[in-house]
Amino acid sequence: MNQVKCTNCGAAIFSSAVAAESQATVTVNCQYCGSQFETRNPNYSPHTTAPVNIYKTEIKYTYTEPAPPESAWKAASDLQHKITKVLGYIMGGIGALFALVMWIVAFLPDTDMPVGVPVIFSLLVFGIFMLARASSRELKRRHGKL
Ligand SMILES: [Zn+2]
Repeated sequence: MNQVKCTNCGAAIFSSAVAAESQATVTVNCQYCGSQFETRNPNYSPHTTAPVNIYKTEIKYTYTEPAPPESAWKAASDLQHKITKVLGYIMGGIGALFALVMWIVAFLPDTDMPVGVPVIFSLLVFGIFMLARASSRELKRRHGKL
């Protein structure tokens, strides 16, 4: 038992609340004014809180993020840009065919496909194309073949 004071009326009351070690605070009911407030848990042991360590790891990861995407783009080798360009155009081409089929299916009568599916897929294909085009431009910029 440990003595605590009510935050509302200031009466000294005896807390008999029992809380688990992982809880930092314990809720106490005032015997005089009936208000409820929180006080430190005498049984609290912070070393049992595993999630704190996970949180710290995440923070560290964020701060050790090496470079912003733009410089990573410029640091990428010619080969990486060539792969992005070729694969991007191939994937984009195949994707465009799929997108076309999706658009047709979406507008067929008695279809289960919502129009949102070809819309999202088309945007994805467009994104792949833009990436391939950007890599193509970066290669041209490097070798002065504009
Ligand atoms: Zn009170």
